[in-house]
Amino acid sequence: MASLISHAVAALGIGTIFARPEISKRVWAIGAGCSMLPDVDVVGFRFGIRYGDFWGHRGFTHSLLFAGILATLALVVGFPHALSGLNRTWLWLYFFLATASHGFLDAMTNGGLGVAFFSPFNNTRFFLPCHPILVSPISLTRFFSGRGAAVLRSELIWIWIPAGLLAVLTLVLRRVFLRASPRAKNVTEV
Ligand SMILES: [Zn+2]
Repeated sequence: MASLISHAVAALGIGTIFARPEISKRVWAIGAGCSMLPDVDVVGFRFGIRYGDFWGHRGFTHSLLFAGILATLALVVGFPHALSGLNRTWLWLYFFLATASHGFLDAMTNGGLGVAFFSPFNNTRFFLPCHPILVSPISLTRFFSGRGAAVLRSELIWIWIPAGLLAVLTLVLRRVFLRASPRAKNVTEV
């Protein structure tokens, strides 16, 4: 796993693509929650579920189907009514990407088993071809016993900085687009 805080940072970085000033902050809080929830599977270790099992760590809860299910639940339960500034399809897409980003980041770490992206249809575990992120210990005790600093340094480089760059790029492109499109500018000024 990458550490939970870094998964949330990635979700907030993705959120800048969907951000509008009028959107409730609850959207970003729920998006961050969606990005962290897949690691709920670590409780399975306490009940004898093995790492490589269907319900094991980086198993079904890290799959693309789970991301779709969680995005749907977040939308239906969290936002049963229309939301100003973002239509429901885009809102679902944000929750889906926030959740799915978790598996992709885990698949870029250098330890553990890979990610069951296609569970329940195929429980094969995958890593991405490039996996530079230092894997975070599952145990908090081990995380705070010295290895955590190295993990956070690695995540700063490979998650926090790219998320920040994505946010900056999105803001710049949005400004350029609004300048080039007077109609779009008028729409935002209504
Ligand atoms: Zn994970």
